[in-house]
Amino acid sequence: MQSTLRRTVTAVAKSQLRSNAAILGALNTRCYSSTHEADVVVIGSGPGGYVAAIKAAQMGMKAISVEKEATLGGTCLNVGCIPSKALLNNSHYYHMAHSGDLAARGINCGSVSLDLEKLMGQKTTAVKALTGGIAMLFKKNKVTQLTGFGSIVGPNEVQVKKDDGSTETIKAKNIVIATGSEVTPFPGITIDEEVIVSSTGALKLAQVPKQMVVIGAGVIGLELGSVWSRLGAEVTAVEFMDTIGGVGIDNEVSKSFQKILAKQGLKFKLGTKVMAATRNGDSVTVSVENAKSGEKEELQCDALLVSVGRRPYTEGLGLESVGIVKDDRGRIPVNATFQTVVPSIYAIGDCIHGPMLAHKAEDEGLITIEGINGGHVHIDYNCVPSVVYTHPEVAWVGKTEEVLKQEGVAYKMGKFPFLANSRAKTNNDTDGFVKVLADQATDRVLGTHIIGPAAGELINEAVLAMEYGASAEDIARVCHAHPTCAEALREANVAAAFGKPINF
Ligand code: FAD
Ligand code: NAD
Repeated sequence: MQSTLRRTVTAVAKSQLRSNAAILGALNTRCYSSTHEADVVVIGSGPGGYVAAIKAAQMGMKAISVEKEATLGGTCLNVGCIPSKALLNNSHYYHMAHSGDLAARGINCGSVSLDLEKLMGQKTTAVKALTGGIAMLFKKNKVTQLTGFGSIVGPNEVQVKKDDGSTETIKAKNIVIATGSEVTPFPGITIDEEVIVSSTGALKLAQVPKQMVVIGAGVIGLELGSVWSRLGAEVTAVEFMDTIGGVGIDNEVSKSFQKILAKQGLKFKLGTKVMAATRNGDSVTVSVENAKSGEKEELQCDALLVSVGRRPYTEGLGLESVGIVKDDRGRIPVNATFQTVVPSIYAIGDCIHGPMLAHKAEDEGLITIEGINGGHVHIDYNCVPSVVYTHPEVAWVGKTEEVLKQEGVAYKMGKFPFLANSRAKTNNDTDGFVKVLADQATDRVLGTHIIGPAAGELINEAVLAMEYGASAEDIARVCHAHPTCAEALREANVAAAFGKPINF
């Protein structure tokens, strides 16, 4: 009896001590705060922010990166470019095996089945390797990394709130905001990331849906719609516009793109508005309306992807505390050197004007830091390429025919089909064409539009040419390796410069 009482008293005392220690620990943590000094602090570690931090350190500045998430790399590496491309690549292989494409090439795989968990696992491995890679690059370049939510409390001061409640203060000569973007919500539709998903949920569905409806046939709708269509879902994309591919795509390319994707099994409802969507258990009823006739229809699906764009993310950043006022689209206004109205505060990437693309954010990060160090700051948004990583890929840079017509620019066009390209022919991958638009009088290349194999790689040659003000004849006279798909780009330039290509 006595020993039982002793044990109980000891247990109560121990538990009291433990809870006292916990209270003291928590108090200590809450009170704990440290201060850092830096030449530049970058808030956000996406492609804009991490590149800016590394560049700053390489230029001899003391650089600190602040990231609220546990992993570095932002939208692009964690829930954007990288995981989507892993799924696009592997779903393409699966589709080639499953659709009989490989068998037609004499490669018999027997019965082909999908291990979705493994496919997702390969995506996770790629993401882990690349986000971990940034942490290593930070170490190598001596960038200090702080994990926590950053907010601006003065023109030269950032406060970082950590998960455990503690705060750190950074006094910095310069602040670079690189906080990126988030999914634009669809009014009245609640995203649960299970059945009604944004791109983030669509990158990790636990099973292949039978029927998927995609709201918006822009870049995300087409890329992730393609992934799930290849894996076996019946995909219908509902698009408000009469064309697919989002902003900036050439009309002729868009039409050809739609035909090719339709052949692959994707269905399109263009000129159609989504009015509402209601989840009933595991299924969703999507109400749509034809934009012209007003005709209404209801679509049933077991996965609804909402992909109607992204908007800048600046929540809780404290912009108002230093007098930075966002524009009507929630973007941070900056001048040509990416400086906000506060001279020591800069902003880059998805949270400012311009296309929401990783490589655009990176370039802005690099030149902003060079500018802070007294360098020349210049970016030509007309030379920022766009790529849709479907199969075939679609890629473009510069102006479309529609824009040139609107601007009253006299242009000539050179076109070359992949059907006549030896490499595409040998690979039995001949859908698509290259279209080059050049100034009628000077022959200077004004735009290049590609739909076809490896378009995302080929476009970089056109970007380089445009950055250096090349003419179509310049490209036509450059020796290109044979047999390569890049010869189709050369031939389109031959056609633009001399009126006709050689091989078609
Ligand atoms: P982000 O990458 O969004 O990074 C911002 C970072 O800031 C985030 O890590 C966020 O956690 C952090 N942050 C925000 N606020 C704070 C704060 N207060 N404190 C601390 N940290 C903060 N683009 C391409 O070019 N090619 C593609 O193939 C491509 N595919 C995509 C696929 C999908 C599904 C999606 C959604 C996007 C894709 N994009 C692609 C777009 C690309 O991801 C973005 O343009 C790019 O990530 C923008 O980079 P950023 O550095 O401006 O911002
Ligand atoms: P997006 O702007 O490319 O496409 C959104 C589409 O939704 C548009 O075509 C729009 O007309 C349509 N839409 C809007 N409201 C609608 C409605 N009520 N009903 C039907 N259709 C409607 O946006 P996204 O596909 O969500 O992509 C967001 C951003 O992410 C883009 O700016 C893009 O640059 C970037 N991103 C890039 C890549 C890449 O570079 N490969 C891949 C994915 C995402």
